[in-house]
Amino acid sequence: MYLADHAWPDLESYFDAESLALVPVGSTEQHGPHLPEATDALIAEGFAREAAERTGYLCTPTVSIGVSPHHRQFPGTMWVDGPAFRNYMESLTRNLAYHGIDRVIYVNAHGGNVEHLREVGRRLHEEELLYAIEWMWDNSITERIEEVFETPGPHGGPKETSLIWHLASELVHEDRIEDARDGGLASFDADTGRMYGARTFYDAIDNSENGVFGDQTDASPEIGEELFEAACENLVSLTEWLAAQSRSSLLPQERR
Ligand SMILES: [Zn+2]
Repeated sequence: MYLADHAWPDLESYFDAESLALVPVGSTEQHGPHLPEATDALIAEGFAREAAERTGYLCTPTVSIGVSPHHRQFPGTMWVDGPAFRNYMESLTRNLAYHGIDRVIYVNAHGGNVEHLREVGRRLHEEELLYAIEWMWDNSITERIEEVFETPGPHGGPKETSLIWHLASELVHEDRIEDARDGGLASFDADTGRMYGARTFYDAIDNSENGVFGDQTDASPEIGEELFEAACENLVSLTEWLAAQSRSSLLPQERR
Protein backbone atom coordinates (compact mmCIF):
# COMPACT_ATOMS: atom_id res chain seq x y z
CA MET A 1 0.00 0.00 0.00
CA TYR A 2 1.63 3.25 -1.16
CA LEU A 3 0.51 6.06 1.15
CA ALA A 4 0.49 8.88 -1.38
CA ASP A 5 -1.88 7.03 -3.72
CA HIS A 6 -4.68 6.72 -1.15
CA ALA A 7 -7.41 8.96 0.26
CA TRP A 8 -7.58 9.48 4.01
CA PRO A 9 -10.54 7.16 4.78
CA ASP A 10 -8.53 4.23 3.38
CA LEU A 11 -5.49 5.29 5.36
CA GLU A 12 -7.65 5.58 8.46
CA SER A 13 -8.63 1.92 8.06
CA TYR A 14 -4.97 0.99 7.67
CA PHE A 15 -3.92 2.82 10.83
CA ASP A 16 -6.84 1.23 12.72
CA ALA A 17 -5.64 -2.23 11.77
CA GLU A 18 -1.84 -1.97 11.42
CA SER A 19 1.06 -0.12 12.99
CA LEU A 20 3.99 -0.72 10.63
CA ALA A 21 5.46 1.55 7.96
CA LEU A 22 8.24 1.14 5.39
CA VAL A 23 10.09 4.39 4.70
CA PRO A 24 12.33 4.41 1.61
CA VAL A 25 15.45 6.55 2.05
CA GLY A 26 17.91 7.21 -0.75
CA SER A 27 20.10 9.98 -2.12
CA THR A 28 20.45 12.19 -5.17
CA GLU A 29 24.15 12.11 -5.92
CA GLN A 30 26.61 11.27 -8.64
CA HIS A 31 26.81 7.58 -9.50
CA GLY A 32 29.46 7.79 -12.20
CA PRO A 33 29.14 8.61 -15.90
CA HIS A 34 26.71 5.76 -16.55
CA LEU A 35 24.04 5.85 -13.80
CA PRO A 36 21.41 8.46 -12.83
CA GLU A 37 21.86 10.59 -9.72
CA ALA A 38 18.58 9.07 -8.48
CA THR A 39 20.21 5.62 -8.23
CA ASP A 40 19.88 5.21 -4.45
CA ALA A 41 16.41 6.75 -4.34
CA LEU A 42 15.19 4.43 -7.12
CA ILE A 43 16.65 1.37 -5.40
CA ALA A 44 15.20 2.25 -1.98
CA GLU A 45 11.78 2.97 -3.45
CA GLY A 46 11.90 -0.17 -5.60
CA PHE A 47 12.46 -2.40 -2.58
CA ALA A 48 10.07 -0.62 -0.23
CA ARG A 49 7.19 -0.51 -2.71
CA GLU A 50 7.66 -4.14 -3.73
CA ALA A 51 7.79 -5.36 -0.11
CA ALA A 52 4.72 -3.26 0.72
CA GLU A 53 2.92 -4.72 -2.30
CA ARG A 54 3.77 -8.29 -1.27
CA THR A 55 2.93 -7.91 2.42
CA GLY A 56 0.09 -5.37 2.38
CA TYR A 57 1.95 -3.01 4.73
CA LEU A 58 2.31 0.71 4.21
CA CYS A 59 5.06 2.37 2.15
CA THR A 60 5.54 6.12 2.56
CA PRO A 61 6.91 8.49 -0.11
CA THR A 62 10.67 8.36 -0.59
CA VAL A 63 13.16 10.61 1.16
CA SER A 64 15.33 11.18 -1.87
CA ILE A 65 18.01 13.60 -0.66
CA GLY A 66 20.38 12.28 1.98
CA VAL A 67 23.78 12.87 3.51
CA SER A 68 26.03 13.10 0.44
CA PRO A 69 28.54 15.97 0.86
CA HIS A 70 31.34 13.49 0.09
CA HIS A 71 30.11 13.45 -3.55
CA ARG A 72 29.73 17.24 -3.90
CA GLN A 73 32.58 17.74 -6.39
CA PHE A 74 30.46 16.11 -9.08
CA PRO A 75 27.83 18.28 -10.79
CA GLY A 76 24.28 17.83 -9.62
CA THR A 77 24.98 16.03 -6.35
CA MET A 78 22.47 17.20 -3.74
CA TRP A 79 22.80 16.82 0.00
CA VAL A 80 21.84 17.96 3.44
CA ASP A 81 24.28 17.71 6.30
CA GLY A 82 24.01 15.11 9.07
CA PRO A 83 22.23 17.12 11.79
CA ALA A 84 19.62 18.48 9.34
CA PHE A 85 18.99 14.98 8.00
CA ARG A 86 18.62 13.51 11.49
CA ASN A 87 16.19 16.26 12.51
CA TYR A 88 14.15 15.75 9.37
CA MET A 89 14.02 11.96 9.73
CA GLU A 90 13.15 12.22 13.40
CA SER A 91 10.34 14.67 12.69
CA LEU A 92 8.99 12.51 9.85
CA THR A 93 9.08 9.44 12.10
CA ARG A 94 7.27 11.31 14.92
CA ASN A 95 4.63 12.19 12.33
CA LEU A 96 4.12 8.47 11.66
CA ALA A 97 3.89 7.78 15.41
CA TYR A 98 1.13 10.41 15.63
CA HIS A 99 -0.93 8.29 13.22
CA GLY A 100 -0.38 5.19 15.34
CA ILE A 101 2.73 3.67 13.75
CA ASP A 102 4.92 2.01 16.37
CA ARG A 103 7.40 0.18 14.14
CA VAL A 104 9.29 1.48 11.12
CA ILE A 105 11.77 0.05 8.64
CA TYR A 106 13.98 2.64 6.97
CA VAL A 107 14.53 0.95 3.60
CA ASN A 108 17.83 2.64 2.94
CA ALA A 109 20.05 2.51 -0.15
CA HIS A 110 22.77 5.03 0.71
CA GLY A 111 25.73 4.22 2.94
CA GLY A 112 26.10 7.85 4.06
CA ASN A 113 22.64 7.69 5.70
CA VAL A 114 23.28 4.61 7.82
CA GLU A 115 24.81 6.10 10.97
CA HIS A 116 22.23 8.91 11.01
CA LEU A 117 19.25 6.58 10.64
CA ARG A 118 20.68 4.38 13.38
CA GLU A 119 21.00 7.41 15.65
CA VAL A 120 17.42 8.53 15.00
CA GLY A 121 16.19 4.99 15.66
CA ARG A 122 18.26 4.76 18.84
CA ARG A 123 16.87 7.99 20.27
CA LEU A 124 13.24 7.17 19.53
CA HIS A 125 13.75 3.72 21.03
CA GLU A 126 15.32 5.18 24.16
CA GLU A 127 12.36 7.54 24.43
CA GLU A 128 10.00 4.56 23.98
CA LEU A 129 8.11 6.37 21.21
CA LEU A 130 8.50 3.62 18.63
CA TYR A 131 10.89 1.07 17.19
CA ALA A 132 12.67 2.05 13.95
CA ILE A 133 15.44 0.07 12.28
CA GLU A 134 17.59 0.60 9.23
CA TRP A 135 17.81 -2.02 6.45
CA MET A 136 20.07 -1.89 3.42
CA TRP A 137 19.55 -4.34 0.56
CA ASP A 138 23.18 -5.26 -0.13
CA ASN A 139 23.91 -5.94 3.55
CA SER A 140 21.16 -8.57 3.50
CA ILE A 141 22.84 -10.58 0.70
CA THR A 142 26.58 -9.94 1.16
CA GLU A 143 27.63 -13.54 0.44
CA ARG A 144 25.75 -13.69 -2.85
CA ILE A 145 27.18 -10.33 -3.93
CA GLU A 146 30.72 -11.53 -3.23
CA GLU A 147 30.07 -14.70 -5.24
CA VAL A 148 28.66 -12.82 -8.21
CA PHE A 149 31.15 -9.94 -8.50
CA GLU A 150 34.91 -9.94 -8.20
CA THR A 151 34.92 -6.24 -7.24
CA PRO A 152 31.42 -5.15 -6.16
CA GLY A 153 32.70 -1.67 -5.15
CA PRO A 154 31.00 0.37 -2.46
CA HIS A 155 29.57 2.98 -4.84
CA GLY A 156 28.36 2.98 -8.45
CA GLY A 157 29.87 -0.46 -9.01
CA PRO A 158 28.39 -3.55 -10.69
CA LYS A 159 25.83 -4.21 -7.94
CA GLU A 160 24.15 -0.80 -8.24
CA THR A 161 24.58 -0.86 -12.03
CA SER A 162 22.81 -4.23 -12.19
CA LEU A 163 20.01 -3.09 -9.90
CA ILE A 164 19.28 0.06 -11.94
CA TRP A 165 19.53 -1.94 -15.16
CA HIS A 166 16.79 -4.14 -13.74
CA LEU A 167 14.63 -1.39 -12.20
CA ALA A 168 15.03 1.50 -14.67
CA SER A 169 17.00 0.31 -17.70
CA GLU A 170 16.16 3.45 -19.70
CA LEU A 171 18.33 5.46 -17.28
CA VAL A 172 21.49 3.38 -17.76
CA HIS A 173 24.06 4.67 -20.27
CA GLU A 174 25.18 1.27 -21.55
CA ASP A 175 27.72 2.86 -23.89
CA ARG A 176 29.56 4.36 -20.88
CA ILE A 177 29.94 1.23 -18.77
CA GLU A 178 33.52 0.56 -19.87
CA ASP A 179 34.39 4.21 -19.26
CA ALA A 180 32.92 3.89 -15.78
CA ARG A 181 35.35 1.08 -15.01
CA ASP A 182 38.37 2.64 -16.74
CA GLY A 183 37.89 6.13 -15.31
CA GLY A 184 37.17 5.03 -11.75
CA LEU A 185 38.77 2.76 -9.21
CA ALA A 186 38.00 -0.81 -10.23
CA SER A 187 40.02 -2.51 -7.50
CA PHE A 188 38.57 -1.03 -4.34
CA ASP A 189 39.45 -3.02 -1.22
CA ALA A 190 39.76 -2.63 2.55
CA ASP A 191 43.17 -0.88 2.20
CA THR A 192 41.98 1.78 -0.25
CA GLY A 193 42.62 5.27 1.13
CA ARG A 194 44.03 3.98 4.41
CA MET A 195 47.37 4.74 6.07
CA TYR A 196 48.53 2.74 9.09
CA GLY A 197 44.93 1.93 9.94
CA ALA A 198 43.55 5.47 9.54
CA ARG A 199 41.07 6.43 6.87
CA THR A 200 42.81 9.34 5.14
CA PHE A 201 40.12 10.51 2.72
CA TYR A 202 36.83 12.34 3.04
CA ASP A 203 35.51 12.54 -0.50
CA ALA A 204 34.82 9.97 -3.21
CA ILE A 205 36.91 11.98 -5.67
CA ASP A 206 40.01 11.40 -3.51
CA ASN A 207 40.03 7.75 -4.60
CA SER A 208 38.13 7.77 -7.88
CA GLU A 209 38.47 10.23 -10.75
CA ASN A 210 34.92 9.65 -12.06
CA GLY A 211 33.36 8.91 -8.68
CA VAL A 212 32.73 5.16 -8.92
CA PHE A 213 34.30 1.94 -7.62
CA GLY A 214 34.32 -1.67 -8.83
CA ASP A 215 34.15 -3.30 -12.26
CA GLN A 216 30.87 -2.24 -13.87
CA THR A 217 31.41 -4.53 -16.88
CA ASP A 218 30.37 -7.44 -14.63
CA ALA A 219 26.89 -5.92 -14.34
CA SER A 220 23.79 -7.18 -16.14
CA PRO A 221 20.03 -6.74 -15.84
CA GLU A 222 19.68 -10.49 -15.20
CA ILE A 223 22.00 -10.36 -12.19
CA GLY A 224 20.15 -7.24 -11.09
CA GLU A 225 16.87 -9.12 -11.12
CA GLU A 226 18.33 -12.04 -9.18
CA LEU A 227 19.84 -9.76 -6.50
CA PHE A 228 16.65 -7.73 -6.29
CA GLU A 229 14.59 -10.87 -5.71
CA ALA A 230 16.98 -12.25 -3.10
CA ALA A 231 17.15 -9.02 -1.12
CA CYS A 232 13.41 -8.41 -1.49
CA GLU A 233 12.70 -11.79 0.09
CA ASN A 234 14.77 -10.69 3.07
CA LEU A 235 12.89 -7.42 3.34
CA VAL A 236 9.55 -9.23 3.18
CA SER A 237 10.71 -11.61 5.93
CA LEU A 238 11.98 -8.73 8.05
CA THR A 239 8.68 -6.88 7.61
CA GLU A 240 6.64 -9.92 8.63
CA TRP A 241 8.93 -10.61 11.58
CA LEU A 242 8.68 -7.03 12.79
CA ALA A 243 4.90 -6.96 12.40
CA ALA A 244 4.62 -10.12 14.52
CA GLN A 245 6.58 -8.75 17.50
CA SER A 246 4.74 -7.59 20.59
CA ARG A 247 5.03 -3.90 21.30
CA SER A 248 6.59 -4.57 24.69
CA SER A 249 9.35 -6.72 23.19
CA LEU A 250 10.39 -3.75 21.02
CA LEU A 251 10.86 -1.39 23.96
CA PRO A 252 14.20 -0.97 25.77
CA GLN A 253 14.91 -3.17 28.73
CA GLU A 254 14.63 -1.86 32.26
CA ARG A 255 17.71 -0.60 34.03
CA ARG A 256 19.25 -3.30 36.21
ZN1 LIG B 1 24.47 4.44 -4.46
